[in-house]
Amino acid sequence: MKISEHLYIYLWSNPRDNNCNTVVIDGKVPLLVDPGLNKYVSPLFQRMKQDGFDSNNLKLVICTHGHPDHLEGALGIKSASVKMAMSQEEERYILDAGAKWYASHGNKMPDFSIDFYLKDGNLILGKHELEIIMTPGHSPGGISIYWPKFKTLFTGDTVFMKSVGRVDLPGGNPKLLKRSVEELSKLKVELLIPGHGPAVQGASNVKANFDFIKKMLANVH
Ligand SMILES: [Zn+2]
Repeated sequence: MKISEHLYIYLWSNPRDNNCNTVVIDGKVPLLVDPGLNKYVSPLFQRMKQDGFDSNNLKLVICTHGHPDHLEGALGIKSASVKMAMSQEEERYILDAGAKWYASHGNKMPDFSIDFYLKDGNLILGKHELEIIMTPGHSPGGISIYWPKFKTLFTGDTVFMKSVGRVDLPGGNPKLLKRSVEELSKLKVELLIPGHGPAVQGASNVKANFDFIKKMLANVH
C-alpha cells in the first residue's frame, strides 16, 4: 500500500503462513526493509508494481534482523545493483545460529554477503535521513529504523501491537529486549510499523502501545 510519496507498506496478513511486514522507501536510493520469505518476494513485487513502484529500481535491501522470515528474500534480491545491509552483530549471529537453525530443518544455510554494516546513527540516502537504532533482545544484532521527518518507526520484531518479539530463540535476551523497548519508547512516533501484525497509528495509540508493553515487561529484571 502506498502511504505517501516516498513510503510504501506491505503488511503480511495471511494467517496460514508466517512472513514479515515489508517497508519500501522510494527516493534517490530506493530501499526495501525486510523482504520476508523467498517464496513471497514475487507476489510482493507484484503488489509494489500495482502501487507504481518498480522493484527493478531497488538499490538497497536492509534486514532488521537475520531470522529467515525477514532475511531469506534478501538473498535473492541482492545483486550487482542492489546492496544489502544489516548489523555486524547480526551477521555474526546468523553465521553461527542461522547455520544451526537451517541444519535442524535439514537445509543448508544460503551463502550471503553484506555490503555494509548498520550501526547506531544516521543513514543518509539522498535527501532521506533515517536513524538506525540497535535494538537487541529478539536477536543479538536486531535494528529498528526511525524516520524522524515523518515520525515513523520500523521496529522489526522488537515491538508489535500489544506484544514483543519472542526471546526464546537462540540469541534472544529478555533484559536486552526490555532495554530496547525503553529506548524506542522515547522517540516521537506517529506511525509504528512492526515486523509482524498491524501497524499502530497516531501518537497517542503508539504511546498507549508502549505503556502496555512496558507493563507486560515489568517483571523482567
Ligand atoms: Zn524474528
